[in-house]
Amino acid sequence: MSFKDLQLNRPLLRAVAEAGYDNPTLVQEKTIPLVLNKKDVIVSAQTGTGKTAAFALPILKLLYDQQDAPKKGKKIKALITSPTRELAIQIENNFKTYSTYTNLRSTVVYGGTSIEPQKEVLKKGVDILIATPGRLLDLHKQDIINLDYIKTLVLDEADLMLDMGFIDDVKKIERLCTTDKQILLFSATIPYKVEQLANTILNNPERVEVAQNSSTSKNVNQVLFFVPKKNKIELGLHLLRNTIKGNIIIFRRTKFGVDKLEKTLLKNGYKADSIHGDKSQTARQDALTKFKKGEINILIATDVAARGIDISDLDAVFNFDLPNIPETYVHRIGRTARAGKSGMAYSLCSADEKPYVQIIQHLIQMQLDVIEDHPYPLDPKAKKEIHKSPNKSKYRKGRKSEASKKKKKRWY
Ligand code: AMP
Repeated sequence: MSFKDLQLNRPLLRAVAEAGYDNPTLVQEKTIPLVLNKKDVIVSAQTGTGKTAAFALPILKLLYDQQDAPKKGKKIKALITSPTRELAIQIENNFKTYSTYTNLRSTVVYGGTSIEPQKEVLKKGVDILIATPGRLLDLHKQDIINLDYIKTLVLDEADLMLDMGFIDDVKKIERLCTTDKQILLFSATIPYKVEQLANTILNNPERVEVAQNSSTSKNVNQVLFFVPKKNKIELGLHLLRNTIKGNIIIFRRTKFGVDKLEKTLLKNGYKADSIHGDKSQTARQDALTKFKKGEINILIATDVAARGIDISDLDAVFNFDLPNIPETYVHRIGRTARAGKSGMAYSLCSADEKPYVQIIQHLIQMQLDVIEDHPYPLDPKAKKEIHKSPNKSKYRKGRKSEASKKKKKRWY
């Protein structure tokens, strides 16, 4: 199937061709016709599948076709909500790319940065607004935003949005928009609470499922180092000095862990920066730009801060901590070995993280390659424990208690 078959118009086809897209991806093939038919849609697809264009292109087509209104005093007709600032910026960049040959205007608003410049842009009028929930509601309260003309509302990364505690904000935003709007809900997974939200606010939705990616690329060489918790930093430094080369993203589970490692790496002369939820938007954007430009070669991140960010061309992914959700491991690893290239994935595992290895291996249906020969091995007793046979019920329990802990405290 080609983009032409999807009934896109010439300005969009030109922009898509210039972006280097030859054919629509699966999620685009399935979703674009439904959006053009003004259906409500629930799409289960992860970042990397081309899901942004799956909603951006048909929204632009619909708005382009309805452009009989005068240009002056543009009203917001499409609203896209995103849980993180980086993702919001990325979505806006995509809209800008695809709308190059139209006169449709888009902008992005998010918190953690001055509100005044955002007000100025909004006052000039835009057709499409991409926003994080808090800043959107703030601007609405100040009467800068009018949601009375919204024709399409997109809830992107809905599962993450709910995990981050935005449920009430999302419901409020939905109520502030017109009742006859089309709603598109995108989510990497559809847990019960997302399903519940969809049942409450969507109208007879169509469903699109792009298979959950549970496999890691054959081109990624995945290795694992068991190490005492107290020696993780030393082993990490040893590997960075001797083994891990090129552009690297290092994942840690907590913001505290990210900060601590960043300080150590800088002290040791590495060109590194970090992104996590407690850093200002400018600092986060700065770190990403430096990484993309090659001014630094190590980016340290929490999963939530890195989620949805299109950083490709990595030589290696380094899991300083293992994720307690196995799908997160697949997301992380998927950032290397893109477009047929090969890549490396290194993981450090302390004794308490062993259950995570088991559920990861269960999901990806393969054993990680354990490297025994390194300077910080486990002591013999811990090693014996580690090599005991896995107990499935035990690790399920571990996962649940970890998840409930996460509810009480924001780790990202
Ligand atoms: P997304 O899942 O929306 O974050 O998209 C992931 C990456 O795929 C982005 O870099 C897009 O520019 C790219 N992309 C989206 N659609 C296509 C397509 N049809 N062909 C090739 N690349 C695409």
